[in-house]
Amino acid sequence: MGQDYAIRATAENALLKAFVARTTDLCEAARKSHNTYPTATAALGRLLTAAALQGMNLKGDDTLTLRVVGDGPLGQLVAVSRADGRVKGYVSEPQVHLPLRPDGKLDVGGAVGKGMLYLTKDLGLKEPYTGSVPLVTGEIAEDLTNYFAVSEQTPTAVALGVMVDVDNSVKGAGGILVQLMPGVPEELISRLETNLAGLPQVSSFFAEGHTPEELARQLFQGFEYRILASQPLEFTCDCSKEKLEGILISLGAEELAYLSEEQGGAEVRCHYCNQTYRFSREDLGRLIQGIRQQQ
Ligand SMILES: [Zn+2]
Repeated sequence: MGQDYAIRATAENALLKAFVARTTDLCEAARKSHNTYPTATAALGRLLTAAALQGMNLKGDDTLTLRVVGDGPLGQLVAVSRADGRVKGYVSEPQVHLPLRPDGKLDVGGAVGKGMLYLTKDLGLKEPYTGSVPLVTGEIAEDLTNYFAVSEQTPTAVALGVMVDVDNSVKGAGGILVQLMPGVPEELISRLETNLAGLPQVSSFFAEGHTPEELARQLFQGFEYRILASQPLEFTCDCSKEKLEGILISLGAEELAYLSEEQGGAEVRCHYCNQTYRFSREDLGRLIQGIRQQQ
């Protein structure tokens, strides 16, 4: 485990809610898992950070999934978070790096392109809830701000940052999500806007060794605020050979028999962590038997 964690804070009698997370180690673990190039590292890292921040709103076995599907070179990006701070995710084309933007930043928007943002909350009910909005810039933070405004009618400020070092590792990463509840006086909104405008870049702030509490202090300067919870974060996958059996079963008995005879088995790779699971001829035989018994 690294030093990553998220905090949940409220200010002014819960009229303002904020989530602040350091995700440096999490984003670096994702980069190593998927062997991403810098632009892809930043895009996936931002989405993982966004999911981690919102994970602070989950309970029990709930999961939150963010999916960005654009027409740019990255293809699809997926991030899934849980209440216990476990986060997983992937990008369909990890080896993407574009020239830097004129302002020197990684061109995440260009690599994502035009498309849609989907947010799915699985709260253990019959049907998971899914909302979607068109991407605004593909830079992820702006797209989420727009999602909360359009889909949930909640004024939200989102900042996400991933700083990639010269050796392509993640030097600093993190994010902030602030939401305004109905009835916040104008004067507080303008004070919050001033504070937000004065905040340091989150990625460099965490690269310098600062903590989420220190960022919350700057965010809520001049406000009465409380930190309510803290949650360690980790990039980790919950896959297993048993869970991936379903992918093989969905191929059908005939295809499995073919794989067993022609290739002596099968390999299934988990999208989320790139781990490969080997299914022997005996494993496939057992699955085929299971399928035939179901029929
Ligand atoms: Zn996995």
